[in-house]
Amino acid sequence: MKRTLIEVFLAIALIGASVFGWTNWKQNGAAAPQITELKAAAEEAEKTAKTSEEAVKAAEEAVAALREEMAPLESKVQQLEAVKAALANGTTLSDLEAAYKKEKNLSAERQVGLGALRMLTKGANDPATLESFRKALQISDFGNRKNTICAAQIGLAAAGEKVTIMSECLPKSAKDDKGEKDGHGEKTAGKDAKSDGHGKATDKHAKADDKKGGSHGAPHWGYEGEMGPEKWGKEFPTCAKGKSQSPLDIRGPFVKGRIVITTDYKEGALRMVNNGHTIQVNVNPGSKFRIDGIAYDLLQFHFHRPSEEKIDGKPLAMVIHFVHKNAEGKLAVLGVLLKEGNENPGIKTLWANMPKSEGPEVEVEGVKFNPGNLLPKEFDFFSYEGSLTTPPCTEGVRFFILKSTVNVAKEQIAEFPFKLNARPVQAQNGREIVTN
Ligand SMILES: [Zn+2]
Repeated sequence: MKRTLIEVFLAIALIGASVFGWTNWKQNGAAAPQITELKAAAEEAEKTAKTSEEAVKAAEEAVAALREEMAPLESKVQQLEAVKAALANGTTLSDLEAAYKKEKNLSAERQVGLGALRMLTKGANDPATLESFRKALQISDFGNRKNTICAAQIGLAAAGEKVTIMSECLPKSAKDDKGEKDGHGEKTAGKDAKSDGHGKATDKHAKADDKKGGSHGAPHWGYEGEMGPEKWGKEFPTCAKGKSQSPLDIRGPFVKGRIVITTDYKEGALRMVNNGHTIQVNVNPGSKFRIDGIAYDLLQFHFHRPSEEKIDGKPLAMVIHFVHKNAEGKLAVLGVLLKEGNENPGIKTLWANMPKSEGPEVEVEGVKFNPGNLLPKEFDFFSYEGSLTTPPCTEGVRFFILKSTVNVAKEQIAEFPFKLNARPVQAQNGREIVTN
C-alpha cells in the first residue's frame, strides 16, 4: 500500500514536471517574437530621441535668429515709446489743432501729419484720428501725391479700417510676399475694401526716386521708353486691358445729346505742384462743375503737352484737364484744348509761379487765381465715357472736351517743363461720342 502511494506520488511528480517543462518550452517559443518587437521599439525610441534632439536644436537656432532680428526692432519700439511718452500730455496736439483751426482748408500733407499725431496721442480708434486720414485720402484723390496717399491708407489700415492699400505703398518685402497676386497690384486690407477707383493715384515721385537710385522699388511710369505708355499695363493692368480708356481721337460719327454743362469756378489760393509728370494746380473746395444740374467739385487741373485728345487725328499744342468729383465719387474731366496763338494771361500767372522741378505742393503767397480765367466762352463739347489718362488708368470717368479752343503763346508752350506728357489715343471700342 505504502509502495503504491509512493508510486502514485512519483507518477504525479513526473506528470507535473512534464507539464512544467512543456509549458516552459511553449512560453520560450512565444517570447521570441516579443523580444524582437521590444528590440525594434527600443531602436525606434532611440531614433525618435535623436529626432527630438535635432528639433530642439533647430528651435534653439530659430530663437537665436529671431533674437538677432528683434534687436534692432527693440530699439525701434523704444523710440516709438519715447515719441508716445513725449506726446502723451496732448499739448503738442492741441497746439497744432489750434494752429490749424485758423486755416479753412488743410492740405492733404497736413491732414496726414495731424492724423499721425492724433494716432500717437489719442490712439488709432479715436474718431478724430480716422477723420484726418480719411480727409487726407479724400483730398489727395487724383492728386498724384503718392506719399500722402500711402500715409493715409496705411494710417487707416492701422486703425482697423477697411481700405485698399496701393501696392507701391507696401514695403518691398511685403510686396514680394503678398503683392500682385490678384493682378491688380493692390493689396486689400479687409474683406469689403472699397474699390471706388479713388485714392489709387499714381507714383508721381518715381522720377525723384530714380534720381536717388530708386531704392524702395516703387513702380514708376513715364511717357517714353521702358516706362512708356505701352509698358504701363505691366504694373497697372487696367491701362492695358481696359475697354474704355482715354484719351480718344475725336472723330465722327457723333451722337446728338441734350446734356447741359456749366461751370462755377471761384477765385482762391494758388496751390501748385510739379509731380514729375505734369504741373498741377490743386483747388480749394467751392468751385463747381454741373452736368445736368448735378454738382461736381473741382479738385485740380493740370496740363498735357501736346494735347492728349486728337481732333480728326490731330493733336493741339496743349490741353488743360479740369478734374471734378461728385458726391457719389464719380469723376468728370473737362478738357480745354490750347491752340498756339496769343499769350494766355492766366497761364502767364501760373507759369510765373510754378515749381520748375518736382517736389511737394507749394502755396503761392499773395496770389489768388480763378480757374475760370482759363475757360473759353462757348461750351459746346464732345463727351464720352473714359478713364484716367495716367496709371492706374481707372475707368468710369466722364470726359467733356470743349470744341472752342483757348490761345497759348509759342513761348508759353516752350516754357512748360514737360516736353511730352501725353498718353497716345486709345481704342474707341464702340463707345459713343456725344455732342450737344
Ligand atoms: Zn490729364
